[in-house]
Amino acid sequence: MIIGEHRPSKLVIDREAIRHNIREEVQRLPKDCELFMVVKANGYGHGAVQVAAAAKEAGAKGFCVAILDEALELRAAGFDEPILVLGVVEPEYAPLMAREKVSTTVAAEDWLAEADHYLKLSQPKEPLRVHLGLDTGMGRIGFQTPAALQHAVAFLAEHDTVFTFEGMFTHFSTADEASADYFHKQVERWDAFMAAVPDKPRYVHVTNSATSLWHADHNINIVRYGAAGYGLNPSGNTLKPPFELQPAMSLVSELAHCKQLAAGESVSYGATYTTTKAEWVGTVSLGYADGYERRLQGFHVLVDGQPCEIIGRICMDQFMIRLPHQYPRGTKVTLVGRNGGAEITLQEMAEYCGTINYEIACGFTARVPRRYTH
Ligand SMILES: *Cc1c(COP(=O)(O)O)cnc(C)c1O
Repeated sequence: MIIGEHRPSKLVIDREAIRHNIREEVQRLPKDCELFMVVKANGYGHGAVQVAAAAKEAGAKGFCVAILDEALELRAAGFDEPILVLGVVEPEYAPLMAREKVSTTVAAEDWLAEADHYLKLSQPKEPLRVHLGLDTGMGRIGFQTPAALQHAVAFLAEHDTVFTFEGMFTHFSTADEASADYFHKQVERWDAFMAAVPDKPRYVHVTNSATSLWHADHNINIVRYGAAGYGLNPSGNTLKPPFELQPAMSLVSELAHCKQLAAGESVSYGATYTTTKAEWVGTVSLGYADGYERRLQGFHVLVDGQPCEIIGRICMDQFMIRLPHQYPRGTKVTLVGRNGGAEITLQEMAEYCGTINYEIACGFTARVPRRYTH
């Protein structure tokens, strides 16, 4: 997708906020526990390579991604830290991962048998680093019983020229919720898995942002730190973080057009909004093709420190707002972030859209340029 360089709409990413959110967490970790910054989905929309660099400066010792291509992007950018792919990669890419020293998640023993075939065919110099995923109740990927885990561990031991048993982990599905009942059920299953493997691999890990913020006693030797690193509260507004999370992402633009409409004039597709008196209307060059969701009709942006309602439907590339009076073209418009004394957070946008802050952050498309401060 073409990047809109010649348009005033841009995402501004504050690297210092990311460093702050990571430093605060690193300070809380036990001595032998490392923070791996999760930079999947282009760093939750913030830009994976830039985030990885800021994270490294703040003390991150490795990275997690969702898909192999995201790991290769980091390697191509020169990062030589450990990188773990959290999703299942097709076994035919096992030799590529081995060569690139990318650690992979394994969720089933037949995967190992297939990967073994490909690794023996292409004989990479390095063994493939394997983290065994354990399903303790997320129901997504992973071994389901301690017996299945023991089998996989035995397979790795028998094939130690092509595999390195580097890690085992699980993922909690409710660590961001007020009730800890389901969380404890998952912990119990995790304990049974642990008891089945006396010789632990180098990395044993269970914590995402929510778990490390609110169940810190479960940190083992990696924290897979995502949302909180970007200043996003993983619980929305439900739980209060133990330190201040600073949002790293703002979205700004400028008025592309400003005009007065007489009473009884309508705005945008479907003519869903009609003025009741003479009104000043501004146009902003951003739309749902940029990830500025159509569902945001009726929400607001900030101009001159004041909330201005989004009127009429959001178009693919533009939308309209009601202004208190005339403003010149080029006046700053803040869609996310601070403007004057006011602020719009990704969380507020998410609530308006009936979703979570994560989805809004990673939903901004490649057309919106990312600019970095600090
Ligand atoms: C995305 C992901 C994380 C990071 O989660 P946050 O809530 O953003 O901290 C950690 N572990 C796994 C397995 C994930 O898929």
